[in-house]
Formats: sequence, structure tokens, C-alpha cells
Amino acid sequence: MFCAQGGLDAEPPRPLADVRDDLARARRDHDAVTFVGGEPTLHPELPDIIAAARDEGFRAIGVQTNGRRLARASLVRLLADAGLTDVHLSIHGPSPAAHDYHTSVPGSFAAALGTLAAARASGLVVAVTTVLTRSNARGLGDLVSLLASRRASAWCLAVPHARGRAALAFDRVMPRLGVAMPFALHALSVAERVRLPAFVRGAPLCVLGPFARHALPEEPRGYGEPCASCAARSDCSGVDPRYLARFDGDELSPCEPVLRAPREEALAAMFVGVGEAAPADTSEVHPSPARARVALPMLGKVTPARAEVPRSAGRRAADALREIFPALYADGEPTE
Ligand code: SF4
Repeated sequence: MFCAQGGLDAEPPRPLADVRDDLARARRDHDAVTFVGGEPTLHPELPDIIAAARDEGFRAIGVQTNGRRLARASLVRLLADAGLTDVHLSIHGPSPAAHDYHTSVPGSFAAALGTLAAARASGLVVAVTTVLTRSNARGLGDLVSLLASRRASAWCLAVPHARGRAALAFDRVMPRLGVAMPFALHALSVAERVRLPAFVRGAPLCVLGPFARHALPEEPRGYGEPCASCAARSDCSGVDPRYLARFDGDELSPCEPVLRAPREEALAAMFVGVGEAAPADTSEVHPSPARARVALPMLGKVTPARAEVPRSAGRRAADALREIFPALYADGEPTE
């Protein structure tokens, strides 16, 4: 639904010998490596590739995955024996309905939780990434509680790039930050309470409030008018240009420089992003929400709050509100 690599040409799996050469070059400057892009667990030589990374002397060896193949505990053990140290797992909601809606694959939530369990049972670090969307923002707090109960090692909330499928389905995927971020901040506070190391990537620092210290560094995306006078700009990735074209960015406001928390640096470094993304979409953006609203499906069905209004009351909504919120009508008329 929101893969930033959607639209890239599919390439055949790279031969082991080529990967060995890349690993040898990378090892000169780095001691950690993560295999990303598409679905690395589909590579037929993945165990040998991981073993090659171990032989090169990498301290940490990770693989990004949607968690479907690794739900088999035997495969996780095989990769762990080859030298895998960490699994980077995508989970996008706290329930089968929420996660499977985002992946469009029935059963993918159960598989992802199976991968989480199998990886932790094999002693691997599991770093979970959730892409923030219009449909999952309200469930983030529940997701954090679930991840903590399943012993995830760390969590990162990623604001989507308007690339690939996320660009094609922009109005379906991209949340209005002013609406979604309160839920995101609540989830970050839940993570603190349950002691799950948590990070956020791709959100403007000015909408993160006290949680800006959880922001991971990222390449600049784009900047709006308020950014011109912002003291935090050099440390902020801003917002996607397509977001600005669509929503103006009226949530943005200049803020003070952010002191990032140095805690959990090793876990923070594990969230490496998705690698090569599809080119930015340059098609027309409708600045009016009215054009976009005609096709904005959301997960679930809106349920009228019937319990708050007596069924026999018919259409007397104003009277019902007066009963529900009497303080608002203290002077006989609604107050602000
Ligand atoms: S106003 Fe400052 S913090 Fe907000 S998006 Fe612009 S540069 Fe970032």
C-alpha cells in the first residue's frame, strides 16, 4: 500500500560472489550491515550471504523483512547460526485487521508476530518499524503495548515518503500531521512507560514537542515558509514537498534547536531506512481536500455513537448534546 520502492524495476538476486565483494568493501568503513530492499529473505543464498558477512568480521548483521518467511522458526535458527544478529520487522497495526489492511495480505499479522517470537527465541534483536498512515495512527498506543509484551527490542515510527506506491496512493496513505501526531506522541509516551526504546523518523521536529529527542536523523525532504526562520532547521528533515503542496504545512512553526537523547544509540543506529526508493512523483497535487475526499477509504466502518443518544430521541441532536454536556449550556446557550 505504501512501499517507497514500488515501481522500481525488479532485479534478479545478486550472485553470492558479488555480494562478498560488496561486503569486503563495506567492512573497510563499517562494522554493521543490514540487508534491505524488496524482501531479502527471498534470496536463495541468504544463509551464505550472512555467513560471508560474519566471516568479514561485521559486529552486527541484520535483515529487513516483512516477516512472512521468517515465521518459520527453523529458518530463523538457520540464519542465526550463520551469523544473523538482528531482524528488522515491519508491523503496521495492533491487530490482524489493521496490519493486514496495510499489507493487503491476509494472515501477514500472524506471520509477523510469529517472526518476532521466533527471532527473540533465537536470541536476536528485533527492531520493529511502523509506517504512519491515516488508518493506523489511532492504534499506535495499542501497538506499542503489544510490541512490549512480545519483547520487541525497539520501535520506530516512520512518516512515509511520497515515493513509489505511497505517492500513487498519497491521499489514502499520508495522514494530516496535525491530526496524526497527537496519537504518535501518545504512543511514544506509552513506549516510555513500558520501557520500549522508541524512535521517530521523517516527522518535522516542531510537531514532536518534547519527543523531538526521539527523532532519528534523515536526509532533508523539503521545507515550508515557517522553516526559513527556524533554529532547528539544520537538524530537521522537514516535510515531503508533496505534503506541502497538498496541505500547506500549516502545522509547522519555527522552534528551538533540539537536543537529541544519546540513550539507546546502538538501537537507534539499527533503523537504517529502506535503501533505494522510487523516484519522487511529480504529477499534479490537488491542494483542495474536496478532490481527494472522493476516494479516501479508511480501515473499518464509522459507527454512529448511538449509545450517547437515546434511540427514541430521533433527530433531537441539540437536546441530546445539552443532556450529555450540560456545562456547555450553563447560560442557556452553547459556550465555546
Ligand atoms: S519549522 Fe523548523 S522544525 Fe518545523 S519543519 Fe520547518 S525546519 Fe523543521
